Amino acid sequence: MAEGRRIGIDIPWSVAWSGEQGFRVQPSTDFPGLLELDQRQAPGVGKPLFAAVHVTRQRRGMIDLLCHICGQPTEASDRWVFPVASGGFVTLHDGSVGWGCNVPPTHGDCARVAATECPHLSHLAETPLKLADDAGRLIHRTDVTPGLEHIAAEMPAGREVVFSCYRLYGPAVTAEVERARVDWEQATKARRAAAQPR
Ligand SMILES: [Zn+2]
Repeated sequence: MAEGRRIGIDIPWSVAWSGEQGFRVQPSTDFPGLLELDQRQAPGVGKPLFAAVHVTRQRRGMIDLLCHICGQPTEASDRWVFPVASGGFVTLHDGSVGWGCNVPPTHGDCARVAATECPHLSHLAETPLKLADDAGRLIHRTDVTPGLEHIAAEMPAGREVVFSCYRLYGPAVTAEVERARVDWEQATKARRAAAQPR
């Protein structure tokens, strides 16, 4: 266990631990007819691997809209995302663009803790964005999550296996994310200019 750090507060619930490096393929209950990759659950065992997201908790968070920091359900009235640090723009078949996000949401309070405690987020200095009415459309991915290639090599050939999920948002949230990113870029430039020696 990491000294003095608490799972669900300083260490996000969604982070994978070194003691959780066991994987199996099983029938998916979320996506009937498909297989899914399931990861051993032993949070707190070994060391937290901050760069690695736990495969099974990532899907649970995206499917059930659980807070990726504390692991508890989020209500529509208190559901936030980090628009700069997470997700990306996806071009759809009709040429329109939607924001897709594979990081589960957070509560407002949890986002505030993360914005100061998380080294990556505090460095970015970004403002969390509240998702108003759009919960996004849940989409599953059967391509191999980067970093799990060694596991993919041992999986049954010719069968689709669900690795991860993301949510694809409509025009309103997409526009808000675009605006938040522009605002963040301008604020970052201004901060850097102010920090330059004259
Ligand atoms: Zn939370």
